[in-house]
Amino acid sequence: MTSTSRPLLNRRLAEFGTTIFAEMSALALSTGSINLGQGFPDTDGPEEVREAAVRALRDGRGNQYPPGPGVPELRTAISAHQQRRYGLSYDPDTEVLVTAGATEAIAAALLALLEPGDEVIAFEPYYDSYAACIAMAGGTRVPVTLRPHEGSFRLDLDELRAAVTDRTRLLLINTPHNPTGTVLTRAELAAVAELAVERDLLVVTDEVYEHLVFDDAEHLPLAGFPGMRERTVTIGSAGKTFSFTGWKVGWVTAASGLVTAVRSAKQFLTYVSSGPFQYAVAEALALPDGYFTAFREDMLAKRDLLAAGLTEAGFEVFRPAGTYFITTDIRPLGESDGFAFCRALPERAGVVAIPNAVFYDHREAGAPFVRFAFCKRTEVLDEAVKRLKSLAG
Ligand code: PMP
Ligand code: GLN
Repeated sequence: MTSTSRPLLNRRLAEFGTTIFAEMSALALSTGSINLGQGFPDTDGPEEVREAAVRALRDGRGNQYPPGPGVPELRTAISAHQQRRYGLSYDPDTEVLVTAGATEAIAAALLALLEPGDEVIAFEPYYDSYAACIAMAGGTRVPVTLRPHEGSFRLDLDELRAAVTDRTRLLLINTPHNPTGTVLTRAELAAVAELAVERDLLVVTDEVYEHLVFDDAEHLPLAGFPGMRERTVTIGSAGKTFSFTGWKVGWVTAASGLVTAVRSAKQFLTYVSSGPFQYAVAEALALPDGYFTAFREDMLAKRDLLAAGLTEAGFEVFRPAGTYFITTDIRPLGESDGFAFCRALPERAGVVAIPNAVFYDHREAGAPFVRFAFCKRTEVLDEAVKRLKSLAG
């Protein structure tokens, strides 16, 4: 057997293929469709933040390798943000780590904290990089399925408890949750925290949509619950909060032992990244509350626009309490296979969406659900809605 007759991609990654986001964004481009698939805003974040990046670049700040943990200005700003928003104290020198987006934070946390064979519990549907990173770390994923209940996808706490075994090392939490838009309530988070303490589990919590919560929902960091600070790795991202997804600036806040562990993996992934952008994000995090309020209100209006349009077009809409995604059920349209529906949608209506089934181990549980992103200009959403209404007729 020659070395190339064996499959080139190793067994850990073989099941993953190309990410759905790349596939669907390419489909949007090749068909000229409106891309409500991959979650990225079609307008950039605040002008002053963009200018701050230009200034940093011109002033020669960050053009060479920044320090491994991130530039001190950004670590201080992250620490101040956690304190100002949530009353959580993290030492900028030992308890904050800047990463290449939340994606690297997730990868580094799992690579650092898991031994081969460790079980990781994640909500299903789960963001696609979770499964791949658990696999790369040699872990075993144990999905706990969020199920539709009275208009939103909910966690069954008994199922979560039952999923914990002696091999469970870590809970991988995501709130606000992509793709369902569910925001865990105080009571749900308290129950998760209690379980983590009782079973002595580590928790990695992906809170990249922390500033995108609507109506009476509230984002509460899991690290703030009793017994959680010392066992929780919290992840944030400037991509989501400031609409600069291409800058890939993310971060971790955690107790120093956890940050040291995550940094041990991170230093061999990218070592460092995004030098000048780190200075700009430090300024962004210090923006007055008005920025965050306006950002949320803008997205709320877009959510309402798209939710109303999708309802009129015949979809069942799960109105999200957070994130910039709407999950729909396509069965009222006489469809049941989200994959087939999304592959045909560009041709049928000139719109691209994401089949939620890709975020499931139990594919059949996710089959009828399709996700639309609403982080787009109002005129783009208007046009998408107009096109989607043609499906009903
Ligand atoms: N976590 C979730 C839940 C996401 O939706 C995304 C997508 N942006 C990420 C992590 C990755 O974030 P980043 O772009 O900062 O790597
Ligand atoms: N987080 C984005 C989404 O869910 C996509 C990011 C990516 O393309 N990896 O749409």
